Order: sequence, then C-alpha cells, then structure tokens
Amino acid sequence: MSKTTSQTGKIVTEPLAILGGPKAIPDGNTHEDLFHWPIVTAEDEQAVVSVLRAGTMSSFDITRQFETEWADYQGVPYALGYPNGTMALLTAMYVAGVRRGDEIICPSVTYWASTLQVFALGGTVVFADVDPNTLCIDPNDIERHIGPRTKAIMVVHYCGHPADMDAILAIARKHNLKVIEDVSHAHGALYKGKMVGSFGDVSAMSMMAIKSFAIGEAGMLVTANQEMYEQAMAFTHYERALTDLTLPEIKAIAGAPGFATGLPLGGMKGRMNQTCAAMGRVQLKYYPQRIVEIQKAMNYFWDCLEGVPGIRPHRTKPGADCTMGGWYNPVGLYRPEELNNLPVETFVKAVEAEGGRSCRGVNFPLHTHPLFKEADIYGDGKPTRIAFSERDVRQSDDSLPVSLHIEDHAFGIPYFKKNQTDLIERYAAAFKKVACQAEKLSSK
Ligand SMILES: *Cc1c(COP(=O)(O)O)cnc(C)c1O
Repeated sequence: MSKTTSQTGKIVTEPLAILGGPKAIPDGNTHEDLFHWPIVTAEDEQAVVSVLRAGTMSSFDITRQFETEWADYQGVPYALGYPNGTMALLTAMYVAGVRRGDEIICPSVTYWASTLQVFALGGTVVFADVDPNTLCIDPNDIERHIGPRTKAIMVVHYCGHPADMDAILAIARKHNLKVIEDVSHAHGALYKGKMVGSFGDVSAMSMMAIKSFAIGEAGMLVTANQEMYEQAMAFTHYERALTDLTLPEIKAIAGAPGFATGLPLGGMKGRMNQTCAAMGRVQLKYYPQRIVEIQKAMNYFWDCLEGVPGIRPHRTKPGADCTMGGWYNPVGLYRPEELNNLPVETFVKAVEAEGGRSCRGVNFPLHTHPLFKEADIYGDGKPTRIAFSERDVRQSDDSLPVSLHIEDHAFGIPYFKKNQTDLIERYAAAFKKVACQAEKLSSK
C-alpha cells in the first residue's frame, strides 16, 4: 500500500480544499527550490561570460568540444550542434533520406516539431496512434500506415518514457525504413540498459530552456552513421564543410574547392550559439548525477500513490534497466472509470486547490489540428499535407482513438528536482486526497 506516513494519512481524510476544507499543501508557493531548473552555478556563468568577453559566439571550437562530449555521453560516434531542436530534427529527416513526396510516420501525441518541418523538405506525415500506458508510438499501429513512399518512423520518447524500440526496429528492418529518434523529452533515459538516441539511424533533440537538458536555445543531432553525419553538416553547417567533411562524395558538393567556402545544401544555417555550447559542457558534467536525484524524487512520489484509485504512474519499472532520464514534463495516467467518471479537468482543479502546482498535461493530438488537415501553406491549391504526397494521407479524428482522447486520460504532476521526501509526501497526499474523495466532486 501507500508509503504516506500517519501525518499525511490525516491530510487525505480532511475536507477537500475546493469544497472549503484545509489545503494539503498550505505553503506550496514557498517550495521554489524543489522545482527550480536548470541548476545554474558560477561555473555555468563563468563559461558563458568568457564566450561573451572573447566575442566568439559564432565560432565553433567550444561547440566541437561539446559535441564530442555529448557523443561520448550518448555512446555514439557523431554529434552535431544546432541552434534548436526543430532544425536538428529537420536535418535528421533530410539525412534519413526524406525528399519531395516522401512520408514519415509520427505519433499524433507529441510537440509539433517532431514532424511539422517535414513540409520544408517537400515531404508529408502520416500519424500513428500512441500506446495508452507508455504514451509513445504504438508499435502495433505502425504497419497499417506504411505506403510506397514511407521513408522513416519518427519515435518520440514521450515525457521521458522510452518507446518500445525492439518492436519498432523490427518493423523498420522488415519494411526497410529509417528510424529517427526525437530525444527532446528523454536526455539520458535508458532502454534496456542503453541510452535512447543510440538506437535509431539518426536522432535529434531540443536542449531549449525548459527541457531536462537545458542550455538556452539549442539542439543536437547524433548518429553512428558517418555518411549521415557528414550529410547533416553539408546541409546546415556550411562553414565547416571545408575543414570537417572527409567523405569525398559529400565534400565534392558541399566543400568544393574553388569556392571561398562551402555552401549549405539546404540553404539553412545550423550553428549553435557558443554561449549555449559553453553552458552545455558545464551542464553535462553534472547532468548524470542530477537526473539520478530527479528519478529518486519522482519514483518516491509515485511510490506514495501506489494503490490509489483512478491514477497510475507514467514510468518505467523502478530499478530496472529502463529509466525516465530527466523525467521531462512528468504526467500521470488518469482512469476516470475508477472515480465515478470524474472529468480530468475537475480532478486537476481540485488538486491545484490543495496548494499543488498547476502542471501541464500532454500535447493535443496533432492529427486533429487544422494545420495538418486543411492549411495550404505553400499555395498548391490544396492542403499541404496531401499536396506533398502521392496518395491521400488525410486521417479522420477517430481513426486514432487513443490519441484523440489522450487529454482525458493524462494529467500533469509536480516535476521534483530534489528528493525531499517529506515535501514530496505532501504533494502526493494532495493527489490521494482528491482521488479518495472523488465521489464528493462528481456528485456535485
Ligand atoms: C521541444 C521539442 C522539440 C523542439 O525543440 P526546439 O528546441 O524548441 O526547437 C521537438 N520535439 C519535441 C518532442 C519537443 O518537446
């Protein structure tokens, strides 16, 4: 049963705060330290200031060092820095071979930048449903979306939860598709003992200010494939084409001698600001130990809620060889049928009234958004989604039933950065209190 102590045991039986009772967390607004992120010390400040003083924001010597260190951390040979995750993912699609008229398969429940920029390559997207427990792409819902022009599967390790890589890689091999991992939620997460981002043909991720690995506005592409790495450089890092490219066939186009310098094949610039790279080098030194602390705290929170009706953890088995990494944007799974069909919004409002923090839930399902259904972005006289494909790839809302209703089945939870068990117990008690008294809300 629940780990909550007798002190918090009393809290859960008191009247609900939203109905006029005492708050479970009366001093919730004083716990800034428990949630503050990223952790920035004088060492980060020193690293950033030295780049500013030297005026080397647009150089790439420090970025190169950061790339080498990030590649080591991931356990892959190559990493390439980007100004954001969106551009790193666009490049990942390009090096995976996505061209005009090609399709990628992407889960519907994710941030738009897992897929929307495929339009910039003249390609399009087909959405797959997500698994209701992992919230990652459902391997059983991939094959029906594969067509003659499908090039790649985009995998998102959603809210830190590793996707089912064995099943996904088997499907990719069978159909000769590339696998791209979007690691923006899951820096440092393990799948069967190996870090996510090292399974796909190519991976990319955001490192923007609120991600679990947060260094400002930045992104990273990683791969074990030298050709993909050099293609990525040729596509977006024109200033490195002459020095860093070694493969003759890529160098011949992008680093051709006779020009003053290479030109970016994609006409886009992918350089990371070196203040971010400098901060990244410092952050990476401490990241592994900091996420161990987060994992302890978040697992403790869920241990406190074991057996509580209506709510389930979104997590891998604690202590197993799969982890949640930095546990970005943590959520819980909601089972309203166990709570008199109390709507999730009412549940969340009642928890917030207990003094809990307001938490973001999951992303809305992309396949229902008008931008993907109707928008003619480039003046083709029809929706871009189908203008860029050889077949009609439109999908009805109810064709992906789990994704369609996902917002009713998930809720945000506090994102603890410190394992302060006494405080975590009180936050857990707020959720337990509302769940255990749900009938008082649904009967209203
Ligand atoms: C944040 C995020 C991105 C985009 O990264 P930016 O750095 O904001 O461009 C892509 N995919 C997912 C899943 C994200 O959460």
